[in-house]
Amino acid sequence: MLKEIEQLLLLQDRDQKIKMIKAELETVPSEQERIERFVAAKSSAFEQVRQRSRDAEIQRKMLELDAQSRRESIAKYKTQQYQTRKNDEFQAISQEIRRFEQEIQQIEDHEIELMEQTEQFQKETVYAELELKTAKRQSEVQQADLKKKEATLGERLQQVEIEREQLAQGLDPGLIFQYTRLFTTKGGNAVVPVEHEFCMGCHMKNTSALVHRAKLGREIVHCQQCGRILYYPG
Ligand SMILES: [Zn+2]
Repeated sequence: MLKEIEQLLLLQDRDQKIKMIKAELETVPSEQERIERFVAAKSSAFEQVRQRSRDAEIQRKMLELDAQSRRESIAKYKTQQYQTRKNDEFQAISQEIRRFEQEIQQIEDHEIELMEQTEQFQKETVYAELELKTAKRQSEVQQADLKKKEATLGERLQQVEIEREQLAQGLDPGLIFQYTRLFTTKGGNAVVPVEHEFCMGCHMKNTSALVHRAKLGREIVHCQQCGRILYYPG
């Protein structure tokens, strides 16, 4: 095999590694955001259910005050009833008392509903808080893992980039230029084997004469279809 091809294959190997490491590094910020969003969602779920529980409790207390003021009115009416001697006034007061008693009944029914709701919301609040705490703990571990992964990838990238630089130094700048353009435009596959006259980059057939030149390994040969650099394996 042509010495340049051997070197280009090593260079391509490092370039593919660099590409992979960079792609993996690029996923880190979105991964961090995903973890943050998850915790934020749990936090807002907790806040919401806690607020609902508080609202129901406030509403119940207001109803309790309403019922209390009606009880006080009834007490006043009853005093008036004792003092009156007129039958129609007595009847009118009785009617008012009944009306208030009915209202109190309705208020108390509503209060019971609210108490049941509050109880349910309180259970949900405890559960949501537990979920939030778990999410926070998990996220801390995940964020730490991501930091570690980022650091490891960063070190590897630096190392492979140094190797790549060393490999590139031994090659002709014109050839490097050709190779780099192919590497960028052909999806990270610039130097490919030819098998049974087929280019393994584009899977198209090349002429026997061209394949023969690649087999001889005396010069750089390009695929007639896609322009990739071809080599004859083995
Ligand atoms: Zn090709």
